[in-house]
Amino acid sequence: MKIGFIGLGNMGAPMAANLAKSHEVTGFDTVAAPEGIALAQSAADAARDADVVITMLPNGDILRQVAAEIHPAMKSGAIHLDCSTVDVESARAVAAQAQGNGLSAIDAPVSGGIGGATNGTLTFMAGGPADAFATVQPLFDIMGQKAVHCGPAGNGQAAKICNNMILGVTMIATCEAFVLADKLGLDRQAMFDVVSTSSGYSWSMNAYCPAPGIGPQSPADNDYQPGFASELMLKDLRLSQMAAEAADADTPMGQAATALYQQFVEEEDGKGRDFSAMLPRFESRHRGS
Ligand code: NAD
Repeated sequence: MKIGFIGLGNMGAPMAANLAKSHEVTGFDTVAAPEGIALAQSAADAARDADVVITMLPNGDILRQVAAEIHPAMKSGAIHLDCSTVDVESARAVAAQAQGNGLSAIDAPVSGGIGGATNGTLTFMAGGPADAFATVQPLFDIMGQKAVHCGPAGNGQAAKICNNMILGVTMIATCEAFVLADKLGLDRQAMFDVVSTSSGYSWSMNAYCPAPGIGPQSPADNDYQPGFASELMLKDLRLSQMAAEAADADTPMGQAATALYQQFVEEEDGKGRDFSAMLPRFESRHRGS
């Protein structure tokens, strides 16, 4: 397969490098120029002859700009596979535009972070036509370990933001519960041993425990170096609230989590720290402070 790859940042560069081991990949980025990937002069040039054009970009506005540039250049029947995390509305607009240009579009945001991109172990959640999903499945197999087809255009983004809204909320709940346990004199290891095998268990507690030295290895054991940075969690929470607003869904816990991560990132020391650093944040506070 001939692949165009646009957006060669922290995630895109290793994903493109994995594909380049077995496919012809032409990349483009306005800034980054990673080694080992053939580079084009423009996004349209990278997209022109490709069977599949992958985009891995910062946000929905940039995705829309790039889509407007590449869709007219792409060959008929080609597939635009967007792996960025963007708002549902932009994903659906780009898919409609692709269809108007005789193309197919799949939105397939990822979970797994830079480690997953490097090791080819990402999880993809995809929206778009089933035949296009089947065509790009071999690419998912190279870049990741799992791809779930979630339905029509935009549903990949919908799945991603619902998942990450749960993650943000459960991480905050886990961190505040650890601080309450501390203040009640409950040993953290005992707290973990009970909760991780009781009805309070979650990925945040069991797999990514925010308390240093407790549970499996996690960013808490590395001074909260990300991992998954708090500002990326804030981005996804904001997308969840944009979607909730547009769909008239009542999401009070998602709203509260968004406000807390916003405060943490913009007014406190959360930027650049893992999203589990909410635990030391709560430790340094008092009720109502
Ligand atoms: P990044 O900022 O490192 O990479 C984005 C790249 O896009 C940059 O190199 C930038 O120069 C390039 N770019 C911007 N505008 C462009 C344009 N018009 N044409 C071509 N290239 C352009 O970001 P990242 O960490 O690689 O994340 C990419 C996407 O993946 C984001 O949507 C992010 O939310 C999502 N994501 C990131 C992670 C993570 O851990 N980093 C995890 C899951 C999902």
